[in-house]
Amino acid sequence: MHESCGVFGIYAPDEEVARYTFFALFALQHRGQESSGIAVTDGQNLKVFTGMGLVSQVFTEEALKNLTGHMAIGHNRYSTSGSSRISNAQPLIVGQDDLQLAVAHNGNISNAHALKEELLAKGYKFHTSTDSEVLANLIISAPEKTWEARLRYAMRRLEGAYSLVLMTKDTLYGVRDTLGNRPLCLGHLQGNGYVIASETCALDHINAELIYELDPGEIVRIDHNGYHLMQGEAPKEQGGLCIFEYIYFARPDSIINGRLVYSARQAMGTGLAEEFPTPNADMVIGVPDSATPAGYGYAYKSGISPVDGLIKNRYVGRTFIQPVQGMREDSVKLKFNPLTPILKNKSVVLVDDSIVRGTTTPQIIRVLKKAGAKEVHMRICCPPIKYPCYFGVDMASRHELIASQKSVEEIRNYIGADSLGYLSLSRLIKSVGIPKERFCTGCFTGEYPIPVQLEMEKLTLENDFADSDQLDFSEDLLANQYKSFCEPSPESAGI
Ligand code: AMP
Repeated sequence: MHESCGVFGIYAPDEEVARYTFFALFALQHRGQESSGIAVTDGQNLKVFTGMGLVSQVFTEEALKNLTGHMAIGHNRYSTSGSSRISNAQPLIVGQDDLQLAVAHNGNISNAHALKEELLAKGYKFHTSTDSEVLANLIISAPEKTWEARLRYAMRRLEGAYSLVLMTKDTLYGVRDTLGNRPLCLGHLQGNGYVIASETCALDHINAELIYELDPGEIVRIDHNGYHLMQGEAPKEQGGLCIFEYIYFARPDSIINGRLVYSARQAMGTGLAEEFPTPNADMVIGVPDSATPAGYGYAYKSGISPVDGLIKNRYVGRTFIQPVQGMREDSVKLKFNPLTPILKNKSVVLVDDSIVRGTTTPQIIRVLKKAGAKEVHMRICCPPIKYPCYFGVDMASRHELIASQKSVEEIRNYIGADSLGYLSLSRLIKSVGIPKERFCTGCFTGEYPIPVQLEMEKLTLENDFADSDQLDFSEDLLANQYKSFCEPSPESAGI
């Protein structure tokens, strides 16, 4: 299970922009752990450094020292379109000369396939299997003279989700799609400069002050004149902010649409205590970290003590090392250790953010019961997830979603809980405190803010390359890529 990407941009002529970008990406690590990259320009040369893995694994002091300039963009990737490999890492660079553009994208373009066909027919070449490269080429293919007009052209033609940070030779742009599916905010750097980020927590870590959260369809331009906001394309009537940002993706210390994510999560726990009270329970455990605030919400409302009954290994990341046979059954034990002496013979309310495939929950319940818990009453911060996401959340296809196959009682039985309660949609929306017209709740209702057709396959664009020799499949998974784009020589014209 995975989250979507994190993007960041900075315009700050007197600052070490790559270093700021590093720390902002570090703060946005939770949005993607597969690859990370920074592109930087001094107005003449454009350099980009990308690598597989966590931000702290990808960048060294030396790599950052090489990335000099007054403007930079950065990206953390979790793949929702295109597979996990170095050539798909971002930022991407497309075009040349005055049409050169660096792009960092969070989201999923649902009409990427058709747009790619069109661009291929026009002679554009593709080097990755991502929808982000389609989007980037669409922008530079626009029959327009200014960057703003090109962006508007692309916004008219793109369908789906995109929060973008873009960099030309002299200007930084932020763009939020007309649904407002993913968050994007603007900040002021202490001293001199402006930044754009997926989440406000990235601003906090670099001492930037939140100025504004972009509205759906909005563009922000940042250059030597400061920042300038403009509407790129009219927002869709039915908004499409992903409600899962509040449930799971975003960090609790981020503010989205004026609402602190921590408070929204705590209110979800309060809602669960009201909708599914458990008067005889001895303790409430919120599954760390995503359900910790909701656990407290449940505890405060019900008067039952909150307990950190599961201790999380803070350094769990991705590991390619296979567990030994005896560990395999409970892979969740790599992540959590129960406080056994405290759990003995206790009736526990266990609060978690969501059940997707239904792999994690039964394991956590088993761990608690093995540790001696007498009863486990499962409480989930959202309604059953029955439908896939078409906008970039890797939520599995429909048949893999446990709630699309089983009733709540069947799920309770399957996960081994003594009772199971899912927060109602109306209470979830009330917890977030933003009108329901602003949200996409398609994963619960099957009703999406825009028409969606076939199940989008993550690797659709990958298939476009199946017979092509454009991709090098032998790349080392842990490779770093360092590219430098200098002023083009006269003979290197064309696309
Ligand atoms: P599962 O085992 O598929 O039911 O995973 C559910 C758990 O994964 C939840 O308790 C969340 O903590 C986490 N999760 C929920 N949604 C996502 C998502 N889209 N991507 C990654 N992890 C998720």
